[in-house]
Amino acid sequence: MAAVKALEVTGLSYRYPDGTPALDGVSFALAEGESVGLIGPNGAGKSTLLLHLNGLLPDVPPAEPAVRVLGQPLTRDRLPGVRREVGLLFQDPDDQLFCPTVREDVAFGPEQFGLAGPDLAAEVARCLATVGLAGYEDRLPHHLSRGEKRRVCLAGVLACRPRLLVFDEPTADLDPRGRRDLKALLAGLPVTKLIASHDLEMIAALCPRVVLLDQGRVVADGPAAELLADEPLMLAHGLERPPGLSRRHPPG
Ligand code: ADP
Repeated sequence: MAAVKALEVTGLSYRYPDGTPALDGVSFALAEGESVGLIGPNGAGKSTLLLHLNGLLPDVPPAEPAVRVLGQPLTRDRLPGVRREVGLLFQDPDDQLFCPTVREDVAFGPEQFGLAGPDLAAEVARCLATVGLAGYEDRLPHHLSRGEKRRVCLAGVLACRPRLLVFDEPTADLDPRGRRDLKALLAGLPVTKLIASHDLEMIAALCPRVVLLDQGRVVADGPAAELLADEPLMLAHGLERPPGLSRRHPPG
């Protein structure tokens, strides 16, 4: 029997309520433990795709679910469970942080799942330590740096113990040290990851495989070392070969 996939997307199409087409028959799958980069130019549909993965879009899931998480179709009645299994990190940490203190923000998820008292405090401390923010419990999220905010968001997601982590531009607007620290942190997380980013150097370092999206369609899916080094492919889809990767000329 084939192993259950961490994520399966089959023929996913989506149009925003104003009529803008965003996804057009997107299909791909992630095996458990894989780290996959989701790349493509602005407007390709990356964020829209990520929002589908834990049911944030559409409001009413279609009758025939196009997304399966750990073998289970993403249907309305399964949303609470799926939201626990799929940890989504938004592009803008300010969209994700909403509590007065770091403690409350990180505790929010596990509290919903019934953790309380000393167990909850220990889980918050564990997740803050994992992201390099031990002792930040009483800090105010809106006083933190951008990189610290991102790490608080990640701690909050990790506190739900997701099986699949989904990141939307995790290194956007981080300084070089913040970016380096986040890269090391992501590399050390032993869960399935889907990382949408324009930071192709980070993708090359963290993801053995990439899925290239353009105009709502998957235009390439394969080894990162091959696709990212394929200069004509990168240029044709508004991207650039990362300088660290040697140029690869496609055959013919
Ligand atoms: P990416 O993340 O790759 O930049 P998006 O998923 O944000 O791409 O956008 C895909 C398409 O959907 C674009 O044409 C974009 O303009 C459109 N879009 C995104 N959000 C909305 C929205 N809330 N309403 C209408 N159109 C949207």
